[in-house]
Amino acid sequence: MEALLEGYRRFRKAGWPERRLEFERLAESGQRPKAMVVACVDSRVDPAVIFDVAPGQLLTVRNVANLVPPYAPDAAYHGTSAALEFGVQVLGVTDLVVLGHGQCGGVHALLQGAPIIAGDFVGQWMSIAEPARVRAMRCEGVEARQRCCEEEVVKVSLANLLTFPWISERVARGVLRLHGAWFAIRTGELLVLQGDGFFRAVANGP
Ligand SMILES: [Zn+2]
Repeated sequence: MEALLEGYRRFRKAGWPERRLEFERLAESGQRPKAMVVACVDSRVDPAVIFDVAPGQLLTVRNVANLVPPYAPDAAYHGTSAALEFGVQVLGVTDLVVLGHGQCGGVHALLQGAPIIAGDFVGQWMSIAEPARVRAMRCEGVEARQRCCEEEVVKVSLANLLTFPWISERVARGVLRLHGAWFAIRTGELLVLQGDGFFRAVANGP
Protein backbone atom coordinates (compact mmCIF):
# COMPACT_ATOMS: atom_id res chain seq x y z
CA MET A 1 0.00 0.00 0.00
CA GLU A 2 2.85 2.38 0.74
CA ALA A 3 4.07 2.05 -2.85
CA LEU A 4 0.56 2.92 -4.06
CA LEU A 5 0.41 6.00 -1.82
CA GLU A 6 3.82 7.05 -3.11
CA GLY A 7 2.38 6.79 -6.62
CA TYR A 8 -0.61 8.87 -5.59
CA ARG A 9 1.69 11.57 -4.22
CA ARG A 10 3.59 11.60 -7.54
CA PHE A 11 0.26 11.94 -9.36
CA ARG A 12 -0.83 14.86 -7.18
CA LYS A 13 2.49 16.57 -7.68
CA ALA A 14 3.11 15.99 -11.37
CA GLY A 15 -0.08 14.74 -13.02
CA TRP A 16 -2.84 16.57 -11.17
CA PRO A 17 -1.86 20.20 -11.85
CA GLU A 18 -1.83 19.67 -15.61
CA ARG A 19 -4.99 17.53 -15.60
CA ARG A 20 -6.99 19.49 -13.09
CA LEU A 21 -9.13 21.26 -15.68
CA GLU A 22 -9.78 18.01 -17.48
CA PHE A 23 -11.00 16.33 -14.29
CA GLU A 24 -13.11 19.36 -13.36
CA ARG A 25 -14.75 19.26 -16.77
CA LEU A 26 -15.42 15.52 -16.41
CA ALA A 27 -16.91 16.06 -12.96
CA GLU A 28 -19.21 18.82 -14.22
CA SER A 29 -20.39 17.37 -17.50
CA GLY A 30 -20.18 13.66 -16.66
CA GLN A 31 -18.49 10.93 -18.61
CA ARG A 32 -19.24 10.27 -22.26
CA PRO A 33 -16.85 7.55 -23.38
CA LYS A 34 -17.53 6.37 -26.93
CA ALA A 35 -15.78 3.04 -26.44
CA MET A 36 -15.88 0.24 -23.93
CA VAL A 37 -13.39 -2.57 -23.49
CA VAL A 38 -13.72 -5.97 -21.82
CA ALA A 39 -10.20 -6.83 -20.71
CA CYS A 40 -8.43 -9.29 -18.41
CA VAL A 41 -7.52 -8.52 -14.81
CA ASP A 42 -3.88 -9.25 -15.71
CA SER A 43 -1.79 -6.40 -14.29
CA ARG A 44 0.34 -6.32 -17.47
CA VAL A 45 -2.58 -5.63 -19.80
CA ASP A 46 -3.86 -2.16 -18.97
CA PRO A 47 -6.29 -0.91 -21.66
CA ALA A 48 -5.63 2.75 -20.79
CA VAL A 49 -1.91 2.21 -21.42
CA ILE A 50 -2.35 0.09 -24.58
CA PHE A 51 -4.85 2.47 -26.20
CA ASP A 52 -3.20 5.58 -24.75
CA VAL A 53 -6.45 7.12 -23.53
CA ALA A 54 -7.14 9.85 -21.01
CA PRO A 55 -9.63 9.58 -18.13
CA GLY A 56 -13.19 9.72 -19.45
CA GLN A 57 -12.39 8.22 -22.86
CA LEU A 58 -12.71 4.48 -22.29
CA LEU A 59 -15.15 2.54 -20.13
CA THR A 60 -13.44 -0.60 -18.91
CA VAL A 61 -14.58 -3.82 -17.31
CA ARG A 62 -11.91 -6.32 -16.35
CA ASN A 63 -12.34 -9.91 -15.27
CA VAL A 64 -10.42 -13.17 -15.42
CA ALA A 65 -9.66 -13.88 -19.12
CA ASN A 66 -11.79 -11.04 -20.59
CA LEU A 67 -14.89 -13.22 -20.64
CA VAL A 68 -18.44 -12.18 -21.41
CA PRO A 69 -20.97 -14.61 -19.94
CA PRO A 70 -24.16 -15.38 -21.89
CA TYR A 71 -27.13 -13.11 -21.23
CA ALA A 72 -28.84 -14.43 -18.08
CA PRO A 73 -31.06 -11.92 -16.27
CA ASP A 74 -31.54 -14.00 -13.12
CA ALA A 75 -30.91 -13.51 -9.40
CA ALA A 76 -27.16 -14.21 -9.57
CA TYR A 77 -24.61 -11.41 -9.29
CA HIS A 78 -23.52 -10.50 -12.83
CA GLY A 79 -20.73 -7.93 -12.55
CA THR A 80 -19.63 -8.00 -16.17
CA SER A 81 -23.19 -7.99 -17.52
CA ALA A 82 -24.06 -5.04 -15.25
CA ALA A 83 -21.07 -3.11 -16.61
CA LEU A 84 -22.15 -3.91 -20.17
CA GLU A 85 -25.67 -2.73 -19.44
CA PHE A 86 -24.31 0.50 -18.03
CA GLY A 87 -21.94 1.08 -20.95
CA VAL A 88 -24.35 0.17 -23.73
CA GLN A 89 -27.76 1.12 -22.38
CA VAL A 90 -26.91 4.13 -20.21
CA LEU A 91 -23.80 5.64 -21.78
CA GLY A 92 -24.51 4.48 -25.32
CA VAL A 93 -20.97 3.51 -26.31
CA THR A 94 -20.59 2.97 -30.04
CA ASP A 95 -17.67 0.56 -29.99
CA LEU A 96 -17.19 -2.47 -27.78
CA VAL A 97 -13.82 -4.22 -27.73
CA VAL A 98 -12.96 -7.61 -26.26
CA LEU A 99 -9.24 -7.52 -25.54
CA GLY A 100 -7.46 -10.84 -25.08
CA HIS A 101 -3.75 -11.22 -24.42
CA GLY A 102 -0.74 -13.52 -24.41
CA GLN A 103 0.29 -15.59 -21.38
CA CYS A 104 -3.22 -15.35 -19.96
CA GLY A 105 -3.41 -17.14 -16.61
CA GLY A 106 -7.16 -17.66 -16.93
CA VAL A 107 -6.74 -19.41 -20.27
CA HIS A 108 -3.88 -21.45 -18.79
CA ALA A 109 -6.26 -22.53 -16.00
CA LEU A 110 -8.87 -23.46 -18.61
CA LEU A 111 -6.38 -25.66 -20.45
CA GLN A 112 -4.40 -27.08 -17.53
CA GLY A 113 -6.88 -26.80 -14.65
CA ALA A 114 -7.24 -23.98 -12.12
CA PRO A 115 -4.70 -23.87 -9.28
CA ILE A 116 -6.04 -25.67 -6.20
CA ILE A 117 -5.95 -22.42 -4.18
CA ALA A 118 -8.14 -20.69 -6.79
CA GLY A 119 -10.74 -23.43 -6.81
CA ASP A 120 -13.76 -21.53 -5.48
CA PHE A 121 -14.43 -19.34 -8.49
CA VAL A 122 -11.86 -19.44 -11.30
CA GLY A 123 -12.73 -22.89 -12.64
CA GLN A 124 -16.46 -22.21 -12.70
CA TRP A 125 -15.93 -18.77 -14.26
CA MET A 126 -13.66 -20.20 -16.96
CA SER A 127 -16.29 -22.79 -17.87
CA ILE A 128 -17.91 -19.96 -19.88
CA ALA A 129 -15.03 -20.49 -22.31
CA GLU A 130 -15.45 -24.25 -22.69
CA PRO A 131 -16.21 -23.92 -26.45
CA ALA A 132 -12.86 -22.12 -26.82
CA ARG A 133 -11.05 -24.94 -25.02
CA VAL A 134 -12.62 -27.54 -27.29
CA ARG A 135 -11.62 -25.61 -30.42
CA ALA A 136 -8.08 -25.03 -29.11
CA MET A 137 -7.58 -28.77 -28.68
CA ARG A 138 -7.12 -28.91 -32.46
CA CYS A 139 -3.81 -27.05 -32.06
CA GLU A 140 -0.64 -29.08 -31.51
CA GLY A 141 1.78 -28.14 -28.75
CA VAL A 142 1.34 -26.35 -25.43
CA GLU A 143 2.26 -22.85 -26.65
CA ALA A 144 0.23 -22.99 -29.85
CA ARG A 145 -2.76 -24.34 -27.94
CA GLN A 146 -2.52 -21.54 -25.36
CA ARG A 147 -2.35 -18.89 -28.10
CA CYS A 148 -5.17 -20.48 -30.07
CA CYS A 149 -7.32 -20.65 -26.94
CA GLU A 150 -6.63 -16.99 -26.09
CA GLU A 151 -7.96 -16.03 -29.52
CA GLU A 152 -10.92 -18.41 -29.31
CA VAL A 153 -11.86 -16.96 -25.90
CA VAL A 154 -12.18 -13.53 -27.55
CA LYS A 155 -14.50 -15.08 -30.15
CA VAL A 156 -16.61 -16.77 -27.45
CA SER A 157 -16.97 -13.43 -25.67
CA LEU A 158 -17.98 -11.71 -28.90
CA ALA A 159 -20.57 -14.42 -29.60
CA ASN A 160 -21.93 -14.10 -26.05
CA LEU A 161 -22.22 -10.32 -26.45
CA LEU A 162 -24.75 -10.97 -29.19
CA THR A 163 -26.94 -12.95 -26.75
CA PHE A 164 -27.71 -9.65 -24.98
CA PRO A 165 -30.86 -8.41 -26.79
CA TRP A 166 -29.98 -4.72 -26.43
CA ILE A 167 -26.52 -5.40 -27.88
CA SER A 168 -27.61 -7.51 -30.87
CA GLU A 169 -30.36 -5.00 -31.63
CA ARG A 170 -27.88 -2.10 -31.66
CA VAL A 171 -25.40 -4.07 -33.75
CA ALA A 172 -28.17 -4.83 -36.27
CA ARG A 173 -29.07 -1.14 -36.42
CA GLY A 174 -25.42 -0.26 -37.03
CA VAL A 175 -25.11 1.98 -33.97
CA LEU A 176 -22.81 -0.38 -32.06
CA ARG A 177 -19.74 -2.15 -33.45
CA LEU A 178 -18.07 -5.15 -31.82
CA HIS A 179 -14.34 -5.78 -32.10
CA GLY A 180 -11.90 -8.47 -31.01
CA ALA A 181 -8.23 -7.84 -30.27
CA TRP A 182 -5.25 -9.64 -28.74
CA PHE A 183 -2.24 -8.00 -27.10
CA ALA A 184 1.25 -9.51 -26.96
CA ILE A 185 2.84 -8.56 -23.64
CA ARG A 186 6.39 -9.36 -24.75
CA THR A 187 6.39 -7.35 -27.99
CA GLY A 188 3.63 -4.79 -27.38
CA GLU A 189 1.95 -5.87 -30.61
CA LEU A 190 -1.81 -5.53 -30.97
CA LEU A 191 -3.66 -7.89 -33.29
CA VAL A 192 -7.22 -7.16 -34.38
CA LEU A 193 -9.77 -9.81 -35.35
CA GLN A 194 -10.68 -9.54 -39.05
CA GLY A 195 -13.83 -10.52 -40.87
CA ASP A 196 -12.19 -13.76 -42.04
CA GLY A 197 -11.73 -14.95 -38.45
CA PHE A 198 -7.98 -14.28 -38.27
CA PHE A 199 -6.20 -11.88 -35.94
CA ARG A 200 -3.81 -9.54 -37.76
CA ALA A 201 -1.27 -7.04 -36.42
CA VAL A 202 -2.09 -3.35 -36.48
CA ALA A 203 0.57 -1.41 -38.35
CA ASN A 204 2.75 0.44 -35.89
CA GLY A 205 3.13 3.50 -38.09
CA PRO A 206 6.34 5.49 -38.53
ZN1 LIG B 1 -5.50 -12.87 -18.77
